[in-house]
Amino acid sequence: MLTADKVKQIAREAGADIVAIGPVSRLEGAPKQYDARYMLPSAKSIIAFGFRHARGCFRGIEEGTFFSAYNTMGYASINYIYQPYVLCQVARAIEDEGYDALPLPNNFPWNAVNVGGQGTLEESQKANPGMSRPPAPGKPAPNVFIQLRIACFAAGLGEIGFSKMFLSKQFGPRQRLAAILTDAEFDYDEQYEPGTVCDKCMACVHACTGNAIPTDRMIKIRVGDRDVEWADIDMKKCSTFFCGGAPEKNPFCTTEEDREKFGATVGVAQAHKCKPVYMYSRALEGAAGCIRACMIHLEEQGKIASQFENRFRKKKQWTMETP
Ligand code: SF4
Repeated sequence: MLTADKVKQIAREAGADIVAIGPVSRLEGAPKQYDARYMLPSAKSIIAFGFRHARGCFRGIEEGTFFSAYNTMGYASINYIYQPYVLCQVARAIEDEGYDALPLPNNFPWNAVNVGGQGTLEESQKANPGMSRPPAPGKPAPNVFIQLRIACFAAGLGEIGFSKMFLSKQFGPRQRLAAILTDAEFDYDEQYEPGTVCDKCMACVHACTGNAIPTDRMIKIRVGDRDVEWADIDMKKCSTFFCGGAPEKNPFCTTEEDREKFGATVGVAQAHKCKPVYMYSRALEGAAGCIRACMIHLEEQGKIASQFENRFRKKKQWTMETP
């Protein structure tokens, strides 16, 4: 018999770090482009997975010495290699018990606009007519995708912090998300009570190199039986500065041309100088606010289970002259 415990055990043995399962009904009311029913109409359950970033992948950026680990082993390889491998194993086990399983790693192209972190919430909820059109009246355009952070919150994997990052009791902001939709039903996990992990300390706000996290504009939605809110991130600033848009924090920025290209949008910045590895090359900022500052705060407060022998931050943050 396919129980929640069995699925979680299979997922952990396959390589997922954390797993939770919730009913798809908690996503009721999602905008059409995010509606799970257009992905797997028979779906009853969301299985949510968290895959940790090794903390050491942030060490080089923290010290200003080594910049390629977070992009590759901490970000792209989880999305493009590790998640698909693990999800396929779990999906096969579910299918062997006679149920459908739709694996959804965090790397799918052609999907809802905001999955890539682009655009305002309002923009992200509409189809992009330049991209695709609904195959029939009443249907969404085919770039449908569940919003992974919201789906994983609905499943009980963690909560959405003030920074909009997903926070778990195990790793705080230090994980990447994936999901499986299935028509199998289970005993479900409870959703987090908002505020379980995030205490609104604002460390993320102060450390973000792009000042992309406002304190006076919030997004508020209801997911399942919980009201959820997070800061209305300036996605244009975020998508520029997490790619190394702040020259004083980007040692690869050495010329006028570099300043212009690293300060451009994601696509341009990604193609410039530091070329993709596993299809990904950005993230030169090392998530200064939304991961590093948040993680340091949560470790110090003892609010997350993942603890280390040595503190992460050992000295004052480095900075350079603007070229
Ligand atoms: S840094 Fe503080 S306010 Fe920001 S998400 Fe983390 S716990 Fe919440």
